[in-house]
Amino acid sequence: MHYNIQTQASCKVILVVLDGLRFDVAQSSMGYLGHWVEISQASLYKVQAELPTLSRPLYEVLLTGTPVSINGITANDVARLSHQTSLFHLATQQGLTTAAAAFHWFSELYNRFPFDRFTDREQHQPHLPIQHGKFYWEDAYPDSHLFADAEALRQSCHPDFMLVHPMGLDYTGHRFGGNSPEYRGRAIATDSLLAQFVPRWLSDGYEILITADHGMNADGQHGGIGADVRETPLFCISPRIAPGIYLEGISQMAIAPLICQLLALPYGKNMRPQSIPGCLSGIMDSPEPEKGCESHQLFGSPSPT
Ligand SMILES: [Zn+2]
Repeated sequence: MHYNIQTQASCKVILVVLDGLRFDVAQSSMGYLGHWVEISQASLYKVQAELPTLSRPLYEVLLTGTPVSINGITANDVARLSHQTSLFHLATQQGLTTAAAAFHWFSELYNRFPFDRFTDREQHQPHLPIQHGKFYWEDAYPDSHLFADAEALRQSCHPDFMLVHPMGLDYTGHRFGGNSPEYRGRAIATDSLLAQFVPRWLSDGYEILITADHGMNADGQHGGIGADVRETPLFCISPRIAPGIYLEGISQMAIAPLICQLLALPYGKNMRPQSIPGCLSGIMDSPEPEKGCESHQLFGSPSPT
């Protein structure tokens, strides 16, 4: 089956955050995603994760485009609602529908804190930033179930922006290390899961971004500054981003503004839009900045490498 994604005029985005996926393993072990890049229907970027390379701080980086020095989520145990304007906030303010199938820390950052597993496992509350959510709290929660949770939300709630966040790679990496057969095997399994869902999402008009919060070192840890924990992938399947492999590296803080561009949202006031090679002219027209936002440099000229 062929998906003519070049002719779609979609304004719906699915962001997949594969917790703990390092760049080199994404590039070498995920053949389904590699296929999309190989046939020039997707792009692959090397992303430089922010510091510290810990989950909760980097969830906040990915969803708000701000560094920890601004957002204050400086460690995993800094547990509270975000003080920033997230993609969920921006989307709902513009009347879009949001959803997330994700670890419960996302509910704590954007919906309510603390997480109550007796009431907050499933949420359908249009006044909250994540309007429709299914949240888990066990690191070993099966990725297969998480993707099924996301698909159930997508089919029933028709989100314009949905976050999908499985934990299996991080869980396996902590147990066996980031340079282990088990970790690479989990990457292959995750790729095969994506192969079940990506075609459905594309056929329903979604543009898809697949990235990670941080990588994983050989010790089974992350938090430091080595390439094994800092370099993460960003796969983009979007008609508005030129196919190619971009190895020069982009900032992790560029991802949230990129999604603002794709969804025609204003930027959050502390976002720092940056030039991203390969972004096509259709998304170079700036959305109006949110009140208080300084003017920023927009995406530069396409220069795939
Ligand atoms: Zn971890």
